[in-house]
Amino acid sequence: MKSLQDKIVKEGNVLSDEVLKVDSFLNHQIDPKLMKEVGEEFARRFAGEKITKILTLESSGIAPSVMAGLVLDVPVIFARKRKSLTLTQNLYTADVYSFTKQETNPIAVSQTFLTNEDHLLIIDDFLANGQAALGLLDIAEQAGATVAGIGIVIEKAFQDGGKLLREKNVRVESLAMVQSLEGGKVTFKEGALS
Ligand code: 5GP
Repeated sequence: MKSLQDKIVKEGNVLSDEVLKVDSFLNHQIDPKLMKEVGEEFARRFAGEKITKILTLESSGIAPSVMAGLVLDVPVIFARKRKSLTLTQNLYTADVYSFTKQETNPIAVSQTFLTNEDHLLIIDDFLANGQAALGLLDIAEQAGATVAGIGIVIEKAFQDGGKLLREKNVRVESLAMVQSLEGGKVTFKEGALS
């Protein structure tokens, strides 16, 4: 997605050879117009799939998911990362190792909102080593739901997540494919534009 790549080049901060900070439009401040485009693109790519719900992870997956949910006309469920007083029983849970926090934490979704009749689109902001996506796939499996695929806003193609998921025959659609962050410069994988 050209507009997303342009935004990354213009506003992204390369924190290291492995970490990209996009706090001005995705991870802290949100650019609603860009998120709308992102949501429309996910909806276009999964249009033939009869999605019933979108499953994401709080908090940065929520904005692109809601925009996609609006177009697909389906509800959006976000897995919770923190313990909640109101989310106490009948949970699907999975342990997720966080690439950015470097710690393992449980994620949880109420069993009320996922059933074995659901056909899910999983969405997340970044794909690095695939741990968040695997946790969400695990939760979908616990519910007996099927998964049409995973929509990622920014995939870091130099990390293992994309390969790991595609080897499991999971359809992964990434709107920006970062090839490298070396030398403080963002380069994209060739042919990644659509
Ligand atoms: P994974 O689980 O694929 O290893 O990492 C994906 C998760 O870690 C995403 O949900 C995202 O929050 C976070 N993440 C991974 N890499 C980056 C990065 O380069 N920048 C930012 N802002 N978040 C990242």
